[in-house]
Amino acid sequence: MEVAIYSNSRQLFNRLFCNILHLHRSYYHHGRSKRILLSRLFQPMNLREDRTIGVGRSSDITCKSQRLMLQAGLIQPANTGCFHYLPYTVRAMEKLVRVIDKEMQSIGGQKVNMPSLTSASLWKTSERWDLLGKELFRLKDRHDMEYCLSPTHEEAVTELIAMQGNLSYRQLPLMLYQVTRKFRDEPKPRFGLLRGREFYMKDMYTFDVSEGAAMETYNLVSQAYSCIFGQLGLQFVKVQADTGSIGGKMSHEFQLPADIGEDRLLMCSDCHFAANVEAMTDTETNCPQCHGKLKESKGIEVGHTFYLGTKYSYILGASYSNTENKPVVTEMGCFGLGVTRILAAAIEVLSTEDEIRWPSLLAPYQVCIIPPKKGSKEELSLGLSETLYDTLIDAVPQLHGEVLLDDRSHLTIGKRLKDASRLGYPYVVIAGKRVLENPPVFEVRCQNNGKTVFLTQEGVLDLLRNVKIV
Ligand SMILES: [Zn+2]
Repeated sequence: MEVAIYSNSRQLFNRLFCNILHLHRSYYHHGRSKRILLSRLFQPMNLREDRTIGVGRSSDITCKSQRLMLQAGLIQPANTGCFHYLPYTVRAMEKLVRVIDKEMQSIGGQKVNMPSLTSASLWKTSERWDLLGKELFRLKDRHDMEYCLSPTHEEAVTELIAMQGNLSYRQLPLMLYQVTRKFRDEPKPRFGLLRGREFYMKDMYTFDVSEGAAMETYNLVSQAYSCIFGQLGLQFVKVQADTGSIGGKMSHEFQLPADIGEDRLLMCSDCHFAANVEAMTDTETNCPQCHGKLKESKGIEVGHTFYLGTKYSYILGASYSNTENKPVVTEMGCFGLGVTRILAAAIEVLSTEDEIRWPSLLAPYQVCIIPPKKGSKEELSLGLSETLYDTLIDAVPQLHGEVLLDDRSHLTIGKRLKDASRLGYPYVVIAGKRVLENPPVFEVRCQNNGKTVFLTQEGVLDLLRNVKIV
């Protein structure tokens, strides 16, 4: 009884405390401060070209996405192949993870989170402790036990399943995935987030009753991958690939064609055949399927799918009980998406030499509003941009948290517009000369299609009502 009273008064206290906090917040954020102000964002480079010199030797900058992300204050180098992801990058990445979660869960994926530290004994069981050589970051604990910082989790997830005893055939297919940091001691970290030593990956592991069922799962996940790249508006090629150190019986890569890509791809111009050169036995000039001419291009690998068979489930004992209650080794697949790599690769393929362009869904902020310069004629319209901001958030609630006000009004509109173009907000709304008209007219730059339109406040609201937010 005493406990119940205590817990009730505790709840009451918590509720009161939250109410006070909310009151305080709404008071504090009343007016100006509830808007997201650009001047308050943590963005160390602050878009200054001359500051690029401060981020390392210019020879360290090896590609466009890396240079643009450094200049725009999206990333900051920490040590070789490791970066601080700054607020814009984290926002874009969280959006990407939401896109991925939605697709993985729509095909039955369940999200888990496995430890980064995995024990050497597990890797020795699969004989990959030696196979991966210097790529593995190895370490010992205080008891002299050996571990590695995992680059991938086939062993860990298979052991997790094996520890449960036999699964029932009714529980399969089982599809577990995670989005976590991965570690790889790259011989030559380069291209910024494209080839780092610490990065984010989405990795899914699937368990099925038979080879046929595993192939169905394989196709299902592959289709989900196509769907993800489709939503992001990224052109990709799915190619036959080498199974490498993961092993297994079949593998495909999802590649974004790009000049700086490190993979060489061969594609048939007559049929759908496409392969990574590494997967071909000889370097062929003709298509093995239709004998058409093969053309070569370069690609950035952003996804990789493997049909593993029983390689891991057999040695670690991951099995299920079939309809006759007999134990059978499960058929596995594994499916990776390079999360940080997709972000950088998208910037690499979509951007111009000096302006970042994002897949619309992933832009860190959808809208940037630029009010007039302090002391200008247009300043007479003072408050119009702020009114537009507040009305927009009220009228289009899904834009809450997606609209920035570039309050650096000591700078000209031109200077701020240049910054906005570089950062690639899909919509830039400018309170230019025509805000003096009656009714006031805003200039709207739609950066993803390059169009500029002039609209009243009502027109701006109508345009932005259609913005898709993930
Ligand atoms: Zn062909």
